[in-house]
Amino acid sequence: MAELNSNQPLLELSTASKRFTRPVALADKISGFFGASRDEQVVHAVDRVDLALQAGEVVGLVGESGCGKSTLGRMAVGLHSLSEGSRWWQGQNLADEHAFSAVERKRIQLAIQMIFQDPYASLNPRMRVQDIIGEAPVVHGLISAAERQDYVAHLLQKVGLDTAMSGRFPHQFSGGQRARVGIARALAVQPQLLVCDEAVAALDVSIQAQVLNLFIRLRDELKLTYLFISHDLGVVRHLSDRVIIMYLGRIVEAAPTAEIFGHANHPYTQALLAAAPKLEVKKIDFIAIKGEIPSPLHPPAGCHFHPRCPHAMPLCSTEQPVLKEIAPRHFSACHLNQ
Ligand code: SF4
Repeated sequence: MAELNSNQPLLELSTASKRFTRPVALADKISGFFGASRDEQVVHAVDRVDLALQAGEVVGLVGESGCGKSTLGRMAVGLHSLSEGSRWWQGQNLADEHAFSAVERKRIQLAIQMIFQDPYASLNPRMRVQDIIGEAPVVHGLISAAERQDYVAHLLQKVGLDTAMSGRFPHQFSGGQRARVGIARALAVQPQLLVCDEAVAALDVSIQAQVLNLFIRLRDELKLTYLFISHDLGVVRHLSDRVIIMYLGRIVEAAPTAEIFGHANHPYTQALLAAAPKLEVKKIDFIAIKGEIPSPLHPPAGCHFHPRCPHAMPLCSTEQPVLKEIAPRHFSACHLNQ
């Protein structure tokens, strides 16, 4: 294996795209049989995105439902293959067969873990928590079977759960406790990067704050890197060093958190922030942007945001704006910056 370079991003996606092909419906197949055209429908979920996560940083990934942020998170973890582009780990292309041994590849796979929105759905209801947390590290040889009980107890303590609960099943926990079990399960394989997909969205606001504080504490204690996917700007602001805004499969703006909230450049980001009643309000949602997000089956040409943008000009409907650096570490894709 070539030397890993610690100056490189921990994980990087380069011009990464993901397309899903929607199967042709039965009615279309029948009409196709009689000669009518029946084109395959292709969803452009993620469109040539560059994403670089530096070790130790917390990156918030924000956008409306259907913008591709969860798909991008799954691509980062390796749960979705890339339709185009490449995926890199510490400067090495993961598609390069000679870059890593099988053991190293397994280690990298374990180093990138995902935490899901619904902890109940992602926990096997028939398994006790001691097995949910303790199985993978034994299977992958991180600990011996004899060490398992102490290891699980240590992880339960780390996420703020009573070790006496290790024999319980998932349904015997509250929503907040299940979220903690999900975090302990991810930590059990000693990850470096956690991709958290709406990880606190299902929780009450007061419980959300506790779990967010746990994420912050774990980051400091374990030197973790997070990609924190959320539709909630309040959550992202609380946690992130840097924020990336996605719209219809593309990154439209990326900047350090204070810069996004203080000097948003892209009209879409500005609309998101204007939708917030006030930033002090804990939950900030997308309510004031006019129009619906267009279908990713037929994204608008040029700038995808132009049908909803108050500043749209003729160029916007024909030419895609490039993401360019408008201030140090602040990138925006808008023709107003050209
Ligand atoms: Fe609006 Fe045009 Fe900028 Fe897109 S490129 S955000 S349509 S001004």
